[in-house]
Amino acid sequence: MLQFQEEVVPELEHLRHATIHNDFNDWNVLVKNNKVAGLIDFGDVVYAPLIQELAVCLTYACFDKEDPLEWAGYVLDSYHKVLPLEEKEIDCLYYLVAGRLCMSLLNSAHSRILEPANDYLDVSVNQAVSLLEKWLEINPVQARIRFRKACGFADEAIEPVTVSLEKRFNHSGTVLSVSYKEPIHMQRAAFQYMYDVHGNTFLDAYNNIPHVGHEHPRVVEAGQRQMARLNTNTRYLYDGLAEYSEKLIKKFPPSLNKVFFVNSGSAASDLAIRLAQTYTGHRNVMVLEHGYHGHTRLGIDISHYKFGSRGGAGQADYILKVPIPDTFRGPFKQNDGTAGIAYADQALDVLNESGISAAAFIAEPIVGCAGQVPLARGYLKQLYPEIRKQGGVCISDEVQTGFGRLGEVFWGFEQQEVVPDIVVLGKPMGNGHPMAAVVTTDEIARAFDNGMEFFSSFGGNPVSCAIGIAVLDVIEEEGLQNNALLTGEYFLKELRTLQKKYPTIGDVRGHGLFLGIEFVKDRTSIEFNPVLANLVKNEMRKACILVSTDGPHENIIKMKPPLCFNKTNVDQVIDELNALLLKV
Ligand code: PMP
Repeated sequence: MLQFQEEVVPELEHLRHATIHNDFNDWNVLVKNNKVAGLIDFGDVVYAPLIQELAVCLTYACFDKEDPLEWAGYVLDSYHKVLPLEEKEIDCLYYLVAGRLCMSLLNSAHSRILEPANDYLDVSVNQAVSLLEKWLEINPVQARIRFRKACGFADEAIEPVTVSLEKRFNHSGTVLSVSYKEPIHMQRAAFQYMYDVHGNTFLDAYNNIPHVGHEHPRVVEAGQRQMARLNTNTRYLYDGLAEYSEKLIKKFPPSLNKVFFVNSGSAASDLAIRLAQTYTGHRNVMVLEHGYHGHTRLGIDISHYKFGSRGGAGQADYILKVPIPDTFRGPFKQNDGTAGIAYADQALDVLNESGISAAAFIAEPIVGCAGQVPLARGYLKQLYPEIRKQGGVCISDEVQTGFGRLGEVFWGFEQQEVVPDIVVLGKPMGNGHPMAAVVTTDEIARAFDNGMEFFSSFGGNPVSCAIGIAVLDVIEEEGLQNNALLTGEYFLKELRTLQKKYPTIGDVRGHGLFLGIEFVKDRTSIEFNPVLANLVKNEMRKACILVSTDGPHENIIKMKPPLCFNKTNVDQVIDELNALLLKV
């Protein structure tokens, strides 16, 4: 309905109007020379855009069809021969059908409440839901192309990828990377789907930022409405800030009760380190091997993934790097708590050898850029008290793992049975709107108030707060954490079945909808297999499924889809992976 509002409503006054039958579901009704020639029910006659009638007709033609666009094409072809359509009318049809389906669904659902014994209503609800789901997969771009074709109109010319790339790099540095050997020119997105300019629908198994689904209407609407009312900064009082802060803080253990808003994960991790250094009076920061926390100067300093890789300037003098507690590749593999203790001891050795107190230890609960590596069980529980004992604070970077993605917990640190002193939030928080935050204790927040003002021009602005509230509401109302749990368990189970079939799958890991597949040459040598991972990524892209590679050797396939991902989507990914691995 939101898309209808955006795409059709502004066009309405430019569309041809006529007296039409508004519930045109009788195939004998005739339309001749712009006039309705035969009517059954005058109660439904309205003066409205001519194509409204056609949209109803198309909806009926598409019900229960394997390829609804094929049937829509037949109707359009015949209609256009009798009553030629204009291009702008054709371009509205996808949304008109979608709008009609939404209305039918609501009407039937409402009637079902009034008439509980009327089982036929279930049929119409199911029919509408099933076509709506198909309609999302079909996408507006593809529909426009096929509808235009059915009426003999050429589609708009599409810019070749080489031209788009050239335009991009005219004014952007080449350091700005583009995914896949064949880059994708995206045009729209909805929920777990992204649509390119050619009308292809991509199943998004990768992007974790559109957490509750791409362009989720509740989130979009919240942002649009607030933007039209007031957008300012934290130097004024407005209701959204307090309301959102309260809602967000409720999601944390009681000791974490203060929040600072910024606009990116990088700004948040940078601020987290400053908070830690101000509070403790120490400078050193302990970080994990292969960790990533941001692109600011400080962010790079605390990210071994950057400072230790190609182009990196090496480890800064105030950084202590400790081994990643990886039970697949590391020296300790017993993930029953013993490996966690052994890795924590390794980290303490590094700390003790430095001879200086560290201000902070920062880590993700599942190290994303290392290739979705979950910290060994019991690692943080062993390490956190030691960090505090020597005068430091513990920071959990939940930029990727937070907001229910892991399924059984809302925050990743809960899996390790610890409570951090500072938590870094980002990506999913605004479902794509740039917002991030640092959550901390009262004591640390007080120490930060040392005379220097903290101000972020955009952090916590009213629009961001409205969007943040909508994201939390949608997670709750749509049971998305539980969906992450159930769909994630199913995904893992299916991946483990594949693993048994293919010795090149060394490890399958993660929680909820935050998963990784580690490709190896074989399971004995567990030699890295970046060639296969890269092939999988690019072949999946050809099959219109989005995944990515990561890890220091780029041999891990990363999956972290929007939380509305369902079991059918998992099957699509698994079937494609299976077909691909069979071939190689
Ligand atoms: N922390 C983690 C764990 C991240 O994955 C990222 C981004 N990939 C950041 C921090 C930085 O966030 P942003 O890109 O929003 O600055």
